Amino acid sequence: MAATNDRWTWVVGTASVGTLPSYPGRRYGDRVGYRIEPGAPESRVLLHVPHAATAIPPEVRAGLLLDDAELATELAAMTDAGTDVVAAGAAERARIRPWAFVNELSRLVVDPERFPDEREAMAAVGMGAVYTRTSDGRPLRTDEDPGLVARWFEPYARAVTELVRARLDAVGAVTIVDVHSYPVQRLPYERGGAHRPAICIGTDDYHTPQWLVDLVTGAFAGCGESAVNTPFAGCYVPLAHYGVDPRVTCVMIEARRDVGPELVVPGLTRLIDGL
Ligand SMILES: [Zn+2]
Repeated sequence: MAATNDRWTWVVGTASVGTLPSYPGRRYGDRVGYRIEPGAPESRVLLHVPHAATAIPPEVRAGLLLDDAELATELAAMTDAGTDVVAAGAAERARIRPWAFVNELSRLVVDPERFPDEREAMAAVGMGAVYTRTSDGRPLRTDEDPGLVARWFEPYARAVTELVRARLDAVGAVTIVDVHSYPVQRLPYERGGAHRPAICIGTDDYHTPQWLVDLVTGAFAGCGESAVNTPFAGCYVPLAHYGVDPRVTCVMIEARRDVGPELVVPGLTRLIDGL
């Protein structure tokens, strides 16, 4: 999926998914690393797009053990390219525009979806909040955390938390929809099952009620088969709310990368409209 993104015209492959209005989002040039795209005041939906970007600040790039060709290969494997475009297309089409929180930096800087501590199972393969291994197990960094958690992970987590709290104050409940894609071929780092459905639905025991799973399954029926927590599991909830706040529900959508935006965008739009 090739994406071009100049913030005005959003195109994935051959399918135009629409034109966005300009938002007062903060850009990477401001050294923030994420942007918030405001939705309707009454929306209870927050789209979270953590893995779409490829940008790596120069001082972070300098700490990676890959040459430029190797880095390009790793970014191609690990980036959920075009998921920001998919989210924007669905946001534009939805009856009530959802809010969106978009990571503008590569997950090779920090992965905002991982626990920054010993709770993170993926740390065992060098892929905790700060990756030390590539997707095929080669060394990515020598230093486990050259200040990246404090510089990038924690401000990002605080900003998501603040946005969720603001939306809870405004409308009383929030559903976080985590928007991802995943490769057709299994990558060596993966720990999940072998089954690779068109749509993988990631759930959390506490934060994902069955009605939400059913809603996702129906919304994405046009994409092909869906399955729950295979090959990837879980969904993103800010730690302040994790396991303690039933007003925050969540679900993760992982679209297999051969499922085109012409199918995923309408599916995501149906999901938003059903929430
Ligand atoms: Zn992802």
